[in-house]
Amino acid sequence: MSTPIIAIDGPAGSGKSTVARALAHALGWSFLDTGAMYRAVTCEALARGLDVHDHEALAQLAAHIRINTLPRVSVDGRDVEDDLRSDAVNAAVSVVAANPKVRETMVGRQREFAALQEHGTVVEGRDITTVVFPNATLKVFLTASLEERARRRDDESEHSVARRDEADYSRSASPLRQADDALVLDTTGRTIDDVVGEIIQCLKNTDS
Ligand code: C5P
Repeated sequence: MSTPIIAIDGPAGSGKSTVARALAHALGWSFLDTGAMYRAVTCEALARGLDVHDHEALAQLAAHIRINTLPRVSVDGRDVEDDLRSDAVNAAVSVVAANPKVRETMVGRQREFAALQEHGTVVEGRDITTVVFPNATLKVFLTASLEERARRRDDESEHSVARRDEADYSRSASPLRQADDALVLDTTGRTIDDVVGEIIQCLKNTDS
């Protein structure tokens, strides 16, 4: 029997990582930040001087590097956590994430990760409720106003956040969209505890 999964999607700065991490902690489950995986591939591509538009080179890179996201993000054992949110990575990550072959590799690894967890997994990203785990125990879509989302991403400008959202919503490979059966929560002005509490309540209702 596979362990339960809470899948969380939403645009940049909607609170996914913070909420997912706190939720996993509260439940005693594992946490997977899939955005960090796409960022790690992008970071490594830039470090190697690859053209991020070169689909085949990026597909090969994604297939051959080992990425760990916990406790810190590393590529082939090298810690890249501090480089993940640079302007260069923010600008290039949506191009890398639009590459179908890179996505295929990442999705496979995300499913493998969840399959290995003992208790349950909270997974967050852009295509988790729609493509990676369409049969998740609970699906959540987080939103927030652009102003608040940019404020939360204090290392990224409102323009960059909006541009990344546009690319994520409009790409042909697994675009960001709301699953029909997702619990939709607007996190604008709400505390983390409040949002986590509502998701846990919803999980309990799903169980009963
Ligand atoms: O969540 P985060 O903002 O760190 O994600 C960085 C980028 O990775 C997103 O803008 C998106 O292009 C890509 N991504 C994705 N699919 C996911 C997670 C992230 O395409 N499941």
